[in-house]
Amino acid sequence: MGDIVIAIDGFSGTGKSSTAKKVASALGYTYIDSGAMYRCVARYFIDHQIDFEEEEEVIVALDEILISFRFNKALNASEILLNGQIMDHQIRLPEINEIVSQIAAQPLIRKKLVNRQQALGLHKSMVMDGRDIGTVVFPDAALKIFMTADLDIRTKRRHEELEGQGIQVTSEEIKKNLASRDRLDTTRIDSPLIKAADAIALDSSYLTFDGQVKEIIDLANKIIYEG
Ligand code: C5P
Repeated sequence: MGDIVIAIDGFSGTGKSSTAKKVASALGYTYIDSGAMYRCVARYFIDHQIDFEEEEEVIVALDEILISFRFNKALNASEILLNGQIMDHQIRLPEINEIVSQIAAQPLIRKKLVNRQQALGLHKSMVMDGRDIGTVVFPDAALKIFMTADLDIRTKRRHEELEGQGIQVTSEEIKKNLASRDRLDTTRIDSPLIKAADAIALDSSYLTFDGQVKEIIDLANKIIYEG
């Protein structure tokens, strides 16, 4: 039985993170949310007024940023920490959504986070979601999924999710932000969001959450047990 790396990439708001988290817990794998790592960098840059276009400033700031993960047994979920502080809603706010894709387009920042992500994946048994996991971070991942979904459906889901967290934002604002991040992510020069040739496309528009989770777990088990 081989432990594998599962790479889940796709557009913003397709449900990658919640799906990846569930798949990881069903398989007893570690889950890493690579988007949360970019969000932590955005949080730090906002809090310390770092200009992401100023190379010198970025180099100094990146040296000051330590991102770590810790499994919280009570929540049965892993938490992300920025310089020792748990990051939760602070990295999900509209101010972060507004800037994170521009920050994630900077090669120096990507280089640092990709190195970290590759180190985290050394022991396999890992599900990582993001934009470049199957193409750049783990091009040899045994299972690659590329998630898409209709923009209006993504908007509705994201709106419900944010409302549930008490974050007030209109549907129009969400739709605009999702579309803008899609555009920035697919058109950037360094590691744009693109389906890896060997990734399996999964359109989650009309799938239930449990349905899409099951689809990925079945694919993973086939590889894990049948090779
Ligand atoms: O996945 P999430 O939407 O939280 O990611 C936030 C942003 O981080 C994305 O819009 C994208 O610009 C960037 N990102 C990236 N590469 C990854 C993960 C996220 O560029 N592997």
